[in-house]
Amino acid sequence: MITRDKKEASLSGISTGCNRCGTCCMKGGPTLHKEDRKLFIAGHIGYQHLITLRKGEPAYTPITEKIEPVKEEIVRIAGKDKTWECLFYNKKNASCSIYLQRPLECRLLECRDTSKLISVIGKNTIARADLIASKDPILKIIKEHEKECPVRKVNDLISKLSKAKDKSKILGKLTFLIQKDMELRGQAVSEFGLSLQTELFYFGRPLFKLLIAAGIPINEINGEIQLNV
Ligand code: SF4
Repeated sequence: MITRDKKEASLSGISTGCNRCGTCCMKGGPTLHKEDRKLFIAGHIGYQHLITLRKGEPAYTPITEKIEPVKEEIVRIAGKDKTWECLFYNKKNASCSIYLQRPLECRLLECRDTSKLISVIGKNTIARADLIASKDPILKIIKEHEKECPVRKVNDLISKLSKAKDKSKILGKLTFLIQKDMELRGQAVSEFGLSLQTELFYFGRPLFKLLIAAGIPINEINGEIQLNV
């Protein structure tokens, strides 16, 4: 139904619909909500399309339009080719390849009035456990990964690093965390045959990527991790 405002805007020549500029799809894929679980069950969205942002990971927040740590674990449609651009966005045709089954946030977003989108941000969001069967043996490694390699620990060490006079101890702890993160991912890849895309859903971004994003360069020499600070 056309609202009065929309009717007036339309009559005055101001566009209120989507002009398919693609800006919202290029800013990043949507966060999934409980309501979107049906899209997963129906097979419109799979693990290979998703990325988990673990609690504390920096991510773009539509409300503040800033990169901020996420308050709780969330699952998003992944980006493509190392960009934030939504995996389902087709730039050539300025179209969404799952338009009729697009997630809640995409259906609510009107770029000239973001109030409907903002009203659902952070509410009833999906976590990994909502999309994994409760008896799936991979949950055991995910649990161990969360215990051994929480993002909070990495964030704490990064913030201590800038103030520390002797950085070697902190760098040693960060190196240990990165190696543990890689070890547990490697274990899951060999036990469950995960692809790189599905690994991003099950374990989120590798910790070394968080360090690189924080401006800490990393080298791997003969299988050894070196942090260059
Ligand atoms: S799912 Fe479709 S509408 Fe939503 S951000 Fe991706 S391309 Fe855009």
